[in-house]
Amino acid sequence: MKKYFVLFCLFALLLSNCKDKKEDNGKLNIVTTTSMITDLVKNIGGDSINIQGLMGSGVDPHLYKASEGDVSKLVNADIIFYNGLHLEGKLVEVFEKMGSATKTPIALADAIDKNTLIGSDYFASNYDPHVWFDINYFKQFAEKVSSVLSEKNPENASIYESNKIKYLEELDKLQVEIISKIETLSTEKRILVTAHDAFNYFGKAYGFEVVGLQGLSTATEAGVQDVQKLATFIIEKQIKAIFVESSVPKRTIEALQAAVKSKGHDVEIGGTLYSDALGNAGTLEGTYIGMFDYNVNTIVNALK
Ligand SMILES: [Zn+2]
Repeated sequence: MKKYFVLFCLFALLLSNCKDKKEDNGKLNIVTTTSMITDLVKNIGGDSINIQGLMGSGVDPHLYKASEGDVSKLVNADIIFYNGLHLEGKLVEVFEKMGSATKTPIALADAIDKNTLIGSDYFASNYDPHVWFDINYFKQFAEKVSSVLSEKNPENASIYESNKIKYLEELDKLQVEIISKIETLSTEKRILVTAHDAFNYFGKAYGFEVVGLQGLSTATEAGVQDVQKLATFIIEKQIKAIFVESSVPKRTIEALQAAVKSKGHDVEIGGTLYSDALGNAGTLEGTYIGMFDYNVNTIVNALK
C-alpha cells in the first residue's frame, strides 16, 4: 500500500511541477527583476520569503534577455514583481506568455497614477519607466508589494505591514536628507548630464534640469550631432561635471568630454551614478537607500 502511495505522490509531483514544500519551509517563492525591486521586496518580506533577483549590479534592464535558468525560476515562482512601463523591454513577451490567472506577474509601476507620469515616445508604454528615482513613487511600490504579499500569505500580513511602515519611515528620512544636501547647490548649478535619460523623475522631484545623451533607453545610440549639440550646451551653461552610469558603457560620456575639449573647454567626469541597477550586494550602494544617497552625494560634490 505504501508503495502505491509513493508512486502516486511522484506522479502528482510531476504533473503539478510542485516543489517539496519542506525544502522551502512553506515560504513564498518570489522572483524579481531589477536590483531596486529585489531590495524593496526583501525589506518588506523579511525572513518569511525566498527571493531570487534576476538582474544583479551593473545589469541593464532595457537589454536584459531571460536565460533558460530564468524561465524555470519564473515558472516556479509564487509571485513575480517587475517594474513595468516597458523598462524590462525584452522580458515583456516572456511575462505575457506565462500570464495565468493564478500567477500574473505584478508590474509595480501600475500602482502609480498614470496622469502623474512623464510621457515618452521611446517606450511602447508611452511613459518614462525610471519612476524609482522619485522616492514618493518608490513608496507606492512598497505599498503595492506589501498588499500583494499579504493577499498571497494572509498569515504573515501583520509582519508585512510592520516591515512596510518601518521601511516607509526610512524612505521619508532619506528624502529629507537628500533634499537638504541638494539645497546646498545653487539652482543654476542643478543641471545633470548623464549617458541616458534615467533621471527625469529625479530632476522633476528634486529640481534638476536633466539632459541625457542617449535618450531614454540604452537601446538607442547617441549620434555625432547630439554629442556636438550637448558639448555646446555644457560650455554655454558652464557645467563643471558630467556623469557616467554603472549600467551603461562609458564611451558615450567620454566622447562628450572629448567634444567639449575639442572646443577648447574642460568638463570633468564627476563620477559613476547608479541608474538602472544598484551597486554590489553587501555594500551600502547595494541597497536602494544607499544608492540614492551615494548618487546625491556624487552629484552635489561634483557640481558645486
Ligand atoms: Zn534606463
